[in-house]
Amino acid sequence: MRKKIVAGNWKMNKNLADTGVLLSELKVKFKEQPTAEIIVAPTFTNLYYAFEELKQSGIKVAAQNMHQAESGAFTGAISADMLKSIGVQIVILGHSERRAYFGETDVLLAEKVKTALKHEMTIIFCFGEELEDRKSGNHFKVVESQLKNALFDLDASDWKVIVLAYEPVWAIGTGETASPEQAQEMHAFIRKTIADTYNTETADEVSILYGGSVKPANAKEIFAKPDVDGGLIGGAALDAESFAAIANAF
Ligand code: 13P
Repeated sequence: MRKKIVAGNWKMNKNLADTGVLLSELKVKFKEQPTAEIIVAPTFTNLYYAFEELKQSGIKVAAQNMHQAESGAFTGAISADMLKSIGVQIVILGHSERRAYFGETDVLLAEKVKTALKHEMTIIFCFGEELEDRKSGNHFKVVESQLKNALFDLDASDWKVIVLAYEPVWAIGTGETASPEQAQEMHAFIRKTIADTYNTETADEVSILYGGSVKPANAKEIFAKPDVDGGLIGGAALDAESFAAIANAF
């Protein structure tokens, strides 16, 4: 049975003090482990602190990005080894904001994925179409090519540590959520594409999260869809009450 996961991507929010407050609140909210695995992704400067704070809790910590190289002259970059050395085993790759504002391409992401796999990290791989793609009916094609270019030359066994996060760009931070039907339709398409490329076992095992304006008010309906295995939450993850309500929406 594939895992249910609710992950909070904090993006460039929360300084050290604010991180401390939110982590304390989350520890209280998640004293009892919910049905889903809970992950939070604070910014790099607070990752070590978050990992230490959450060590005894059931909440896991992820990085929001990492560099593809092992080490060296890459000013401002963070390596897989650095993340592993502070206990962080999970990394978000391919977020649409990394693609749009930092020029990350499918080719670069394929490299990052390989580096993360080499370091035995779990990868939350993000992808999703833009509004024009959906309007022109190209959304399936765009999503398929994002997956193919970054992930489809991996071995089936590599998929054990890959979590997919379908995040339609038009739904991120806009308040406009994909309808539960739109999410299900795309998630089913993704699963079928993986089954066709690999096999049904691989497709059935991979958790596919939905991301884009998930809130306590819509989480239940979205998570109820058979191919939606949880969510990657932005804005609503910055508030313990909302994040816990979403996590408990299964
Ligand atoms: P919002 O939930 O703020 O729309 O962000 C979604 C997201 O980008 C999570 O990675």
